Amino acid sequence: MSSADLLAKADKHLYPNYKPARIVFTRGRGAELFDTEGKRYLDLAAGVAVCAVGHGHPDHARAIAEQASRLVHVSNYFFNDVNIRLAEALAARSGLPRAFFCNSGAEANEALLKLARRHFYARGETSRSRVVAFHSAFHGRTLGALSMTGTPKYKEGFGAPGGVTHVAYGDLDAVKAELGPDVCAVIVEPLQGEGGVVPPPPGFLEGLRAACDAAGALLLMDEVQTGIGRLGAWFGFQRSGVRPDAISLAKGLGGGVPIGAMLTSEALAPALPPGTHGSTFGGNPLACAAALSVLDILEREKLVEGARDKGEALGQMLAAVVRDLPSVCVGERGDGLLRGLVLAEGRVARDVLPKLADRGVLLTAAGDRVLRFSPPLVVSRAELEEGVRVVKSVLADG
Ligand SMILES: *Cc1c(COP(=O)(O)O)cnc(C)c1O
Repeated sequence: MSSADLLAKADKHLYPNYKPARIVFTRGRGAELFDTEGKRYLDLAAGVAVCAVGHGHPDHARAIAEQASRLVHVSNYFFNDVNIRLAEALAARSGLPRAFFCNSGAEANEALLKLARRHFYARGETSRSRVVAFHSAFHGRTLGALSMTGTPKYKEGFGAPGGVTHVAYGDLDAVKAELGPDVCAVIVEPLQGEGGVVPPPPGFLEGLRAACDAAGALLLMDEVQTGIGRLGAWFGFQRSGVRPDAISLAKGLGGGVPIGAMLTSEALAPALPPGTHGSTFGGNPLACAAALSVLDILEREKLVEGARDKGEALGQMLAAVVRDLPSVCVGERGDGLLRGLVLAEGRVARDVLPKLADRGVLLTAAGDRVLRFSPPLVVSRAELEEGVRVVKSVLADG
């Protein structure tokens, strides 16, 4: 079926809560995607930092197919061999020994929120329920996650529950001022993704750890975008050496197969006893097999180290664009293979995306003025150079 026919059906039958580019993809390979007409695109977005091992990785595909023919689902009334192995593999890499599995980033953050409140409730500290979060933070679209999200336009009109106070990302004094005896947790992205690819100021995460310890509050990290090798370490928190009490994961974890996870310290294991939380699909062997294969591929192909090296190279390429086009872009920032090119005041990043797509390069916007690069970790240096060349040429054209 042609793109035009498919798009006509999409206009009639898909719920119009998104406004996608009018491109219909049918297949991919590595960092390349192909549309219905066979046009090739360089995918430097990776489904918003999701497709860590690229498209159509043969080992990933084989692991999913083999698991699909062996066992897809059994529920949490029983164990299955796959989620046990995945929990062990995540513990070995994170130092956080307990895994709860769910299906998305928002769900993983819901679990963190319930964990924090219930941890203190179980200890009789029932008034410790407030959470401190950050302006421009993104934690997902379900109502609990939305209460922690720090961008008003995502929340407008939904009546998201309260109990969350937002302060400026990077402002340690503002956090300390909020850390009263009613605060159960601080939730922070180790590098803000949707908010505009904003790295933490030096010492900020270390300061949060110390402030949480002093106040008796938990430090939760949303690693949905930064986890699974993206920043050049298995987890974003390992770039600072700060140990969170619990983290959320999703995006890169399944390499595109939906899966989320909450990883916690042993001390938090009693916080959500049987009956307090769950998910029908969570820990499903199919999704867990996909995730195990992602971890395996990242390790075998040294893609976590690669994210650091290629990320540095990408940072230099973007810095050169900033130097050459100072009236169009004013900076670059990020870590590993999560990088942002910051456009000059008055420019709108999402307006640039269709021009890039016309020229066969896919990126996303983060915040209003940032072009976000979150390529598959299998991307080559040559592909990064190709992408940056096109970005520069499109920006130079106005
Ligand atoms: C994408 C994202 C989420 C939400 O994940 P979903 O799978 O869309 O629910 C939460 N937190 C961060 C940091 C994200 O980047």
